[in-house]
Amino acid sequence: MAEYEYETHDYDCVVVGAGGAGLRATLGMAEQGLRTACISKVFPTRSHTVAAQGGIAASLGNMGPDSWQWHMYDTVKGSDWLGDTDAMEYLAREAPKAVYELEHYGVPFSRTEEGKIYQRPFGGHTTEFGEGPAVQRTCAAADRTGHAILHTLYGQSLKQKAEFYIEYFAIDLIMSDDGVCTGVVCWKLDDGTMHVFNAKMVVLATGGYGRAYFSATSAHTCTGDGGGMAARAGLPMQDMEFVQFHPTGIYGSGCLITEGARGEGGYLTNSEGERFMERYAPNYKDLAPRDYVSRCMTMEIREGRGVGAGKDHIHLNLNHLPKEALAERLPGISESAKIFAGVDVNKEPIPVLPTVHYNMGGIPTNYFGEVLHPTKDNPNAIVPGLMAVGEAGCASVHGANRLGSNSLIDLVVFGRAAAIRAGTVVDREAAIPATHKPSVDKAFERFDGLRHSSGANSTADLRLEMQKAMQEDAAVFRTDKTLKEGVEKMTEIAGKMNDIHVTDRSLVWNTDLMETLELGNLMPNALATIVSAEARKESRGAHAHEDYATRDDENWRVHTISHVDGSNVTLSHRPVITKPLSTEKEGGINLNRIAPKVRTF
Ligand SMILES: Cc1cc2nc3c(=O)[nH]c(=O)nc-3n(C[C@H](O)[C@H](O)[C@H](O)COP(=O)(O)OP(=O)(O)OC[C@H]3O[C@@H](n4cnc5c(N)ncnc54)[C@H](O)[C@@H]3O)c2cc1C
Repeated sequence: MAEYEYETHDYDCVVVGAGGAGLRATLGMAEQGLRTACISKVFPTRSHTVAAQGGIAASLGNMGPDSWQWHMYDTVKGSDWLGDTDAMEYLAREAPKAVYELEHYGVPFSRTEEGKIYQRPFGGHTTEFGEGPAVQRTCAAADRTGHAILHTLYGQSLKQKAEFYIEYFAIDLIMSDDGVCTGVVCWKLDDGTMHVFNAKMVVLATGGYGRAYFSATSAHTCTGDGGGMAARAGLPMQDMEFVQFHPTGIYGSGCLITEGARGEGGYLTNSEGERFMERYAPNYKDLAPRDYVSRCMTMEIREGRGVGAGKDHIHLNLNHLPKEALAERLPGISESAKIFAGVDVNKEPIPVLPTVHYNMGGIPTNYFGEVLHPTKDNPNAIVPGLMAVGEAGCASVHGANRLGSNSLIDLVVFGRAAAIRAGTVVDREAAIPATHKPSVDKAFERFDGLRHSSGANSTADLRLEMQKAMQEDAAVFRTDKTLKEGVEKMTEIAGKMNDIHVTDRSLVWNTDLMETLELGNLMPNALATIVSAEARKESRGAHAHEDYATRDDENWRVHTISHVDGSNVTLSHRPVITKPLSTEKEGGINLNRIAPKVRTF
């Protein structure tokens, strides 16, 4: 039995993660006087949200007519009809409020001549229920929007006396025998001490798992720790087959060039210098949604029209744009292009390639952020004491494909929603749950096992094996053959977690052990992704299946629910919520508007 001493901390709410979602939840909870702790494995303002460039979608209508109903329509269509309609309505309706709140908290948005928040066009955002021209809906702070939001939310959370536990690594959830989440077990990275947090509400805001792939725009910290913790607690993940490839990762490094670059007038060309998106998407051209643009680029390359010596990438042109516009609106990406591609954007095109960018799937929740554990009788049953927000969660507003700038708004709308919900369901007078010892012992047992492991595989080698398999077999285009091979490979690779070795046995700043814990979290995410993808016999959103080229609503307009136990994955389904929150009479959307149809651009 592994014996570790630990310090105990009691809170009303404990938020794991200090990205945009975690900080917005923390701030909202602290503002209501709930005793709130926020735990983060990195310094809050180093969370991946800091890298978000392009902006945050809300129908403010500062640059022309817009409405939340149009935003909702675009989100439904963008999701390829897999999103939950109640959550998508909530997102679009609450978005303007959430953005004005950010403004009042102090986010330094770029401004129009009249001093209003500046908004730029982004892929898939349109007017008149997809019948009008593209809309300028994406609110931006130059090309550093995430940076601006994160710094503001951190400052405000400190002001509200939220307590931060920085460079604490959450290992596992504490679950009572009757399935209530009552806390989380953490390892303090800089001094090796152990900590148990007891809470009435735990919020997972741990971000995505882009690092399950070889080439990703996400930070090295995006290792799906929330999904890993949920899986080990016997809780499900949802819609994991849907992984977004961003059209413009810099060729080679994977570093992101924001869609805002195309929003500001940039366009893609092939080896013949052709603006090929005009051929595929006559209406929205380079501003068609990401899944679609990524597939068109892949087809151009496959058909021999890629650029460069290997004819294996595409050009993004910005050199026709005024120098001043680039300097004012896109300073960060001009710098990235210089550093990572050696390109002066004023003179030459940037070499780009579709790169893994976002995970639509995650821990299933309702639109209050409460985690769901679907049962036969109740597909929307909740797990008491547990919420999930941000990229770690799946509300599901992005369905099979997320629109650009809809993630930052998801973070703040649902971070805020979770705080509002906690304000009503957390009983301030009640005692904080006592530590559930068996759950803590189990977490230490696993931790200790990895710490002293001496198997045949190094963490770095096994991680690379996983990343290569995912990159190859769960790619932009998928076939029965690649997916079947992928499942076999990933099952074998996940099995090797039992035969891993860690060389550093200490507890202080042991990055070898931390990366092993992270790999242990990436593994169930990766496995759920490939198994769910193999099972889905249709094409929808980011899941482009060459053997089943069309969407099949009759059989497949359902959420995939995956339970991962070691290297075993069990799949089931949960119905998509098709009912909006309000009727047309109440000011909501006309249902005929959002009835499924073929997605064209
Ligand atoms: C380069 C890039 C640009 C993007 N640009 C845009 C954009 O312009 N617009 C848009 O809408 N979306 C954009 N996105 C997507 C969006 O930024 C992300 O989906 C979003 O920031 C995720 O936020 P989050 O709060 O869920 O998680 P993150 O910001 O990833 O934060 C996760 C937090 O969890 C903590 N954590 C994780 N595991 C543990 C653990 N085990 N213990 C303790 N703490 C833990 C981390 O320390 C961190 O604080 C972009 C994404 C990338 C990668």
